Amino acid sequence: MPTVSTTFKILPGETNIGIVGPDQAKFTKPTEARARLIIRYLLRDPKVSVVSGHCPDGGIDIFAEEIAEELGRRQFIYPPSNQRWEPYGYKARNIRIAKKSDVVFAIVLRELPAHYVGQRFRICYHCKTDTHVQSGGCWTAKYAERIGKRAVWIEI
Ligand SMILES: [Zn+2]
Repeated sequence: MPTVSTTFKILPGETNIGIVGPDQAKFTKPTEARARLIIRYLLRDPKVSVVSGHCPDGGIDIFAEEIAEELGRRQFIYPPSNQRWEPYGYKARNIRIAKKSDVVFAIVLRELPAHYVGQRFRICYHCKTDTHVQSGGCWTAKYAERIGKRAVWIEI
């Protein structure tokens, strides 16, 4: 089971803050507003940098870039070279994010909006939980844990 947190604490020595999560279509206005508030909070310290993956379908990655830009934070942005899992796609992109980050925050959604027309899964198959919707960000956070980084799931 993932470590779900509601405190979003940045620990001493954590400078590169990975922020991952769903694409734009999975958000509602309220969940987007909540995600943006959380990102703003995660990047509140002027010493931190953001690490993110510039998802071509928008969402968390783009919120993170916009907020980092506004706050003047350093950004490490790794867009996928190709829109496929592998080779040279999302998997490689996610690994770069995990390696560059000192901590990865996976912002995940408790439910999909009624208007969402994409594929729906009953559980998050990465985390084996039904408390949030499956997200590629979970893969990145799990990978980060496997290589010894801290990963925190924030369910909104
Ligand atoms: Zn998950």
